[in-house]
Amino acid sequence: MDSIEGILEYKRSHNIVVFAHNYQSPEIQAIADCVGDTFYLAVKANDIECDAIVFCGPDFMVEMTALLNPDKKVVYANPAARCPLAAMCSGEDIEMLRKEYPGVPIVGYLNTSMDCRSKVDICCGSRNCLEVVRSLDSHEVIVIPDENLAAYIQRCVPEKKIISWLGFCAVHEYIKAEDVAELKRLHPKAEVLVHPECTPEVASLATAVLSTNEMVERAMNSASDEFIIVTENELIHRLTEAAPTKKFYILPKAVCHTQKKITLHDVIRAIETLEPEVKLDAQTVIDARRPLEKMLTLDALKNTNSVKSEGLCVSSSL
Ligand code: SF4
Repeated sequence: MDSIEGILEYKRSHNIVVFAHNYQSPEIQAIADCVGDTFYLAVKANDIECDAIVFCGPDFMVEMTALLNPDKKVVYANPAARCPLAAMCSGEDIEMLRKEYPGVPIVGYLNTSMDCRSKVDICCGSRNCLEVVRSLDSHEVIVIPDENLAAYIQRCVPEKKIISWLGFCAVHEYIKAEDVAELKRLHPKAEVLVHPECTPEVASLATAVLSTNEMVERAMNSASDEFIIVTENELIHRLTEAAPTKKFYILPKAVCHTQKKITLHDVIRAIETLEPEVKLDAQTVIDARRPLEKMLTLDALKNTNSVKSEGLCVSSSL
């Protein structure tokens, strides 16, 4: 497999698909069958036809795909790509929260460990977090692990009391409001699209707070020609492909070093060896699938797919 064509042909002939998150490098996105945000890839994984999935993304995404596809081989492109945010809340922490807030439902962001996910009531992504929280028949709701996401939900759903956890994504947490304000000063006509993992100060400068797929959709459909993109800067690749006549301004320091641990060499090795495969015990599959399936059922019931932000799938089988 010494050429892109060779990799694509090998994948096809072995019925292997490659999933890549929006923050993966352009060379990895180029060989992926499906590119999108965490929520989009979770939904896609649920109905995909193939023998094996090589997943280019951090641990929690790969393991979530395995959860939704227990009959398929799911392979880490690089198992060292472990998301620090997902490691900030454990199953023990959830048990502690249950004791402290008896009866209060717990919403687990998709960016959580398997242990943690097994113990929450329902999952949410950045795109559907508001719908998930509004659906719960409780005034108080615990949202873990990202404090900024919880604060965003609190601002949008003031009728509920959101109890948050002290987790954060360093990529979004360290984006400074003054840097975004400076971009706004330089490009006053640009829409400012901000990820909900950013701080409230940064979010206060936003035209819209959106998941990464929603940013792509907004860039395609908005009348605006210019956008300041406040998230991991690799999203620029999908944005320029989706809306090639428009201008995008990014924050160059917003780099996820976890996602960048995955190289094209890793992906080729994973396609060839189909190792290391995600291994989950039967009880984990039952426990950790439950909150994910609740989220997916809610999404189907509310027909939010009618406004869903699309990822990019190039394989005809997807
Ligand atoms: S961008 Fe943040 S949440 Fe996503 S993988 Fe990197 S560290 Fe984790």
